[in-house]
Amino acid sequence: MTLGSSCAVSTIERGNTSALFELSGRPLLIDFPGDVCRKLLQAGVDPLDVKTAVLTHRHVDHLHGLPSFVHECIQLCKPLRAARPNTPGPMAELNLICPESDADLVERTLDLFGLAEQSDLYRVNLHPLPVTAEGETAKGELWDGWRYEAIGGRHGSLAPLGLVIQHDGAGWKLIWSSDTEPAARLLSRASGAQILLHDTQAASPMAAHGDADTLIAMLNEHGWPDLFVPMHLPADDTEIAAIRTELDRVAPDRFRMPDDGVWLLDLRAAT
Ligand SMILES: [Zn+2]
Repeated sequence: MTLGSSCAVSTIERGNTSALFELSGRPLLIDFPGDVCRKLLQAGVDPLDVKTAVLTHRHVDHLHGLPSFVHECIQLCKPLRAARPNTPGPMAELNLICPESDADLVERTLDLFGLAEQSDLYRVNLHPLPVTAEGETAKGELWDGWRYEAIGGRHGSLAPLGLVIQHDGAGWKLIWSSDTEPAARLLSRASGAQILLHDTQAASPMAAHGDADTLIAMLNEHGWPDLFVPMHLPADDTEIAAIRTELDRVAPDRFRMPDDGVWLLDLRAAT
C-alpha cells in the first residue's frame, strides 16, 4: 500500500511518499512523512505492531514524521506499562534500517525531542547500512523467509535505500526504489517481479529523480514487472497526466497509478 505517493509537495489526494508492505501478516513501514500513525490506523495496522521500518534517506519529506511517530508510540506504551509495571525492558521496539550516512542525523533528530530518553517505554534500534550509489549492497533477513537486498539509488549527493524484497518459497519479488534517478541496478531486477514501485516525478528526464521516458526505455531493455507503480509523483496534475499517457501508450496492462491508502497487491495470493 502506498501511504503517500506524492513528491516533497503533497496534494489534496496524495501525501509525501511512504509505503506499507504486509509480509506474512507483519508490517514493514517505508519512510516517515507526517501523520504516519493515522495512516497506519486507517490501513488497519496498530503502530506498535510496526517492529521494522526503513528510512530510505535523510530528506525532510521522508524523515520529519519520525520523531512524531516515536512520540506517539511512547504515548501508546504508557498505559501498557501502567497495566504491567513489572515488565522488564521497553513495551515495544522499532528496528529502523537506514543508510549509514544518515544514522547520526536520525539519532540527533530523536535527541532533539528527548525521545531516546524514553527508551524504557519504546526503544528505537538503528540498523545502519553502508550502501552507496554504485558500491556495495547490503542483504538481510526480515522474517518468515522474507529477505531484502538494499541497493543505493542516485539522488543528488545521496544514495537512498532501494529495496528488493523477496520470498523464495512463495516466489515473491517486490522492488522499491525510493527517490532516485532511474536506477539500473533495480530495474535490471524487474523482470519476474510482481511489483516495482519507482520514483517517477516527471514524464521527461529531470535531475535527481526518475522519469517515465527513461524508465520505459530501461524496462523495455530489462523486462517489465507484472505491475509498475510510478511513485513520488509531481504535485502538478498536468505532469501526472503526461506520465500516465506515456505509460498507457507502451504498457497499458502493466502499470497502475497509486491511490494513497489502497492496497495494490494481495501478497496472500498463491503464486
Ligand atoms: Zn529525496
